[in-house]
Amino acid sequence: MISNRELFLKNTAQTSDSPRLIEIERAEGSFLYGPHGEKYLDLVSGFNVSNIGHRHPKVLEAIKEQLDKYLHVTVYGEFVQAPQVQFATNLLKQLPTHFESVYLTNSGAEAVEGSMKVAKKYTGRRQIIAAKKAYHGSTQGALSLIGNPAYQQAYAPLLPEIEFIEYNSISDLALITHDTAAVIIEAIQGEAGVRVPSVSYMQALRTKCNETDTLLIFDEIQTGFGRTGKLFAFNHFGIIPDILMLAKGIGGGMPLGAFVASKKVMDVIKDNPMLGHITTFGGHPVSCAAALASLQVIIDEQLIEQVEIKEKLFRQELNHPKIKEIRGLGLMMCLQLETFDQVYAVSKYCAEKGIMIDWYLHCETALRVAPPLTISEQEIKQACKIIKEGIDKFC
Ligand code: PLP
Repeated sequence: MISNRELFLKNTAQTSDSPRLIEIERAEGSFLYGPHGEKYLDLVSGFNVSNIGHRHPKVLEAIKEQLDKYLHVTVYGEFVQAPQVQFATNLLKQLPTHFESVYLTNSGAEAVEGSMKVAKKYTGRRQIIAAKKAYHGSTQGALSLIGNPAYQQAYAPLLPEIEFIEYNSISDLALITHDTAAVIIEAIQGEAGVRVPSVSYMQALRTKCNETDTLLIFDEIQTGFGRTGKLFAFNHFGIIPDILMLAKGIGGGMPLGAFVASKKVMDVIKDNPMLGHITTFGGHPVSCAAALASLQVIIDEQLIEQVEIKEKLFRQELNHPKIKEIRGLGLMMCLQLETFDQVYAVSKYCAEKGIMIDWYLHCETALRVAPPLTISEQEIKQACKIIKEGIDKFC
């Protein structure tokens, strides 16, 4: 019989010549399980998705309840679907009152596309500014903002009138003018290798956008839902963006994204032409039921309150002379090594020893550590012990 691994390589589209090829049979809490008794402690969370762990019972219960009612019934924005309405309402309750309207999407990239359209229509301007080394998704609009020409050239032409600024550089903010529709920026740059900006930078960015009537759009697709020790990372900077883009951890493991804005901004898509931004599956009722339950779990289990303590434990346990720097905030961390060969060898060693760890798109010399927020102290200690063993062996 042909194995699933062979069928994966033969019949599913490959995104690189070196997929990790780890076969998963099931997942639970902080762990992934393979078909031959393998067990991995997940330090990647499916790339910042499984913030409340895998298959949280409250999420499964909400999904099952919704399965008994209805699946897809119509395109987004027409029928009144309780899971969408309830989730949007609960999400807004967690946000400053400036946020009044939630548009639900399938993914992060789709939230980025929608936000760009809203910003252009609302301001009547065309220019969008993004940051170098950003990652906002792989659709053509989002790819236009990626800030790494190596990923863009083969797919040109992309969107016109996109300019790039250096992330965390106050002097580059001078590029934002009255011609700029929006600045789209990650609250903390993820794929650049977890770069945390200064509070003064974010405040200067907010001021510059106010001065030029430019919309400030925060990508919190990686940083959202408690990952950095606050429900959203903008809370660290004492500023409020005009549009907030969400995905990944939003759905408790189900596919969902969103962008959130004031009603005045969001309403531009409803006329001239009407139906200016539509999606068939965006805000799928099962995903929204899961998202509603997941948000409640984050609050009820006080997961955010534990993030800082767990971050400290990681930093303490990962004290090793070969780790040049631990960058990050909360449970969004990055261990800086020297070379990709080291990162690859340590990741491979960790996987063999039952620890799932990865690296970053624009920073292949650093290890990615972003476990479920539910990870226990004992699991953290075990993970750090294996990572240090790997570093001892290969660095
Ligand atoms: N923005 C950020 C910061 C991301 O990390 C990602 C995905 O990794 C996206 C946007 C795109 O999200 P999706 O893959 O759901 O389209």
